[in-house]
Amino acid sequence: MSLSLTFLGGAGTVTGSKHLLSMGENGSMKILIDCGLFQGAKELRTMNWQPLAVDARTIEAVILTHAHLDHTGYLPLLVKQGFRGPIYCSEPTAEIAKLVLLDTAKIQEEDAEHANRVGYSRHKPALPLYDTTDALAAFSLFETLAPDQWHPILSKTAKVRLTNSGHILGSTFVEIQTEGKLFVFSGDLGRENPITLKPRVNPREADYLIIESTYGDRCHPQEHPLETLARLIHETIHRGGQVLIPAFAVGRTQEVLHLIAILKTTHRIPDVPVYLDSPMADKVTEVFDRFASWHRLSSPDLKRLSATFRHVPSLNESTAIMQSGKPAIIMAGSGMLTGGRILRHLEARLPDEKNTVILTGFQAAGTLGRFLKEGVEEAKIYGKYVPVRARIAEISSLSAHADQREILNWISGFSARPPKRIFIVHGETNASEGLRVRITDRFNIAPHIAKLGETIELRD
Ligand SMILES: [Zn+2]
Repeated sequence: MSLSLTFLGGAGTVTGSKHLLSMGENGSMKILIDCGLFQGAKELRTMNWQPLAVDARTIEAVILTHAHLDHTGYLPLLVKQGFRGPIYCSEPTAEIAKLVLLDTAKIQEEDAEHANRVGYSRHKPALPLYDTTDALAAFSLFETLAPDQWHPILSKTAKVRLTNSGHILGSTFVEIQTEGKLFVFSGDLGRENPITLKPRVNPREADYLIIESTYGDRCHPQEHPLETLARLIHETIHRGGQVLIPAFAVGRTQEVLHLIAILKTTHRIPDVPVYLDSPMADKVTEVFDRFASWHRLSSPDLKRLSATFRHVPSLNESTAIMQSGKPAIIMAGSGMLTGGRILRHLEARLPDEKNTVILTGFQAAGTLGRFLKEGVEEAKIYGKYVPVRARIAEISSLSAHADQREILNWISGFSARPPKRIFIVHGETNASEGLRVRITDRFNIAPHIAKLGETIELRD
């Protein structure tokens, strides 16, 4: 019997999460925890086009922590490479992941089509990483698991339990028991007091903890997101500008829309249209409606929220809104500005100082979102340089990720059986290093920062 962990993604970066747990005879039983796409820097993105370092046909099962693209977006490619096992996750994660995968396939098809039409890609013809048919092929493998209870998997070689991690709708941390050892994969860890979600649960036992570190080196400011949002919207609309809010897929968009709905119904912002310019917008409220036990929004909250925004189903309608330039609030994907319809709005609005871009989520190194956050004067969009004169604002208190203090508090919850080894994943170098130092100081244990491609044999 042997146990090992291999970090195939989400190590040294916040994207591409893929952690392989090998067990059984010579480590022949393999489970992949998360199956995300790399985003941001080109060296990372090119890895999406390469086959996985491990033969996909030898992986018995995938377990998803949540539906975000950087945790699910590689699934169609895994299936293309021959993976046929179950994809275990919570019910809302399955629903949202399917929306995310279809949306991603569609965005890639649209981007490839746009690139071929405008001719800015070096690849001729430009191809999508995967298309709708590939995304659909992964759907039949999803198997949902009820939360908070143990489920035997892999012919009882292991048991798995999913429990709310408070990051997005349906997000869970994953506990796996095998060969007498207990693994806890944090997935993305939510805030202690999220606005719309139920707060994360704190497990009390682990042998091995695999912990995320997105904000491992810093704490979110103590601002009130509602006030900041109101001020930014008010100032921009007053100048006759547009407010662009790059939004992560379904799960996160809700939180910002909920706040805008509050501001609108209490007349704290001008009555301008709010557009949710995302092909999957119609499904958003439906998913929240169906999974009431996973969040804190009431039916009246959800009704108010749906009444607040307008859907933009087609690309033509999106173009019309973009060309009009009238004062409006526009939410569109993707969250880190790596593709999707937000790029078309940015191309049109960035050159004018009366507009505002509000970043609400983490912006990974190498993404356009990160460049804007760092104050570039020109942004490269569709192969052209666009001057950045619009105001770039950030409300990091709207982040869906625990900050350093909240991560440490969660780790301190392992009181009944503290982990004997801790692996730090899902962070850029400074963030992971910052967390490593704090964990060492506080818990008297030396965590290991996982490196991309590395395998760790677990003998103790
Ligand atoms: Zn996430």
